[in-house]
Amino acid sequence: MRKPMLAGNWKMNKTRDEAIQFVLAVEGNLPASIDCVVCAPAIILRDIVKRAETLKVGAQNMNENESGAYTGEISPVMLKDTQVEYVILGHSERRAYYNETNEKINAKIKKALEFELKPIVCVGEVLEERETGKTYDVLKEQVVKAFDGVTIKNPADVIIAYEPVWAIGTGKTATTEVAEDACKFIRGVLADIFGKAVADELRILYGGSMKPSNVGELMSEPDIDGGLVGGASLKADSFIELCTTAA
Ligand code: PEP
Repeated sequence: MRKPMLAGNWKMNKTRDEAIQFVLAVEGNLPASIDCVVCAPAIILRDIVKRAETLKVGAQNMNENESGAYTGEISPVMLKDTQVEYVILGHSERRAYYNETNEKINAKIKKALEFELKPIVCVGEVLEERETGKTYDVLKEQVVKAFDGVTIKNPADVIIAYEPVWAIGTGKTATTEVAEDACKFIRGVLADIFGKAVADELRILYGGSMKPSNVGELMSEPDIDGGLVGGASLKADSFIELCTTAA
């Protein structure tokens, strides 16, 4: 059985005080039957970890090197030291604005797993790729290259997020059918790489304008195990509603 997950991606939002207020507001109001996660800016991770009890904490990115001359970057050693559990890798904003390639994301996944950080690996097509019928080719390439040479010891610790880029921050949620078809396809690609037993244990999240009003329907689909949520995860009451609906 795959444990559902609801992960908030705060992106470049929230001061330390705002984050602490959020944690204090959600603690005690989250369902235990799912993994409720917030992926926060690196500079406030420690403050959140310190106060989080049932809430789990993740970073939004990580450098693939352990240390060195990489000005401005955060290493897996540092994330481990901060005691975060998860790290988002390959978010479409990082692919688009910081030129992250599938090869770089592959190196990051390997390093995250080496340091026992649980990666949330994002894949997804842009609008033009969907409109020209390339969605499944793009998804396959992203998944195959991201997981090239990766060994998965515990499938529960590796999460894939299907995030159609045209749905992120646009208010345009993919229909339940489109989201399920893509997640099912991704699970098939993962089965080709790791075998069906492992693929059946890997959690696949949907991301793209998910909100309390659509989380239930999306998660009723067999291959959608949860959500990676941007905008609707920023307010404590909305996050609580997302998590309780997802549970
Ligand atoms: C995201 O940033 O991963 C995301 C899905 O954003 P939003 O929910 O705002 O579309």
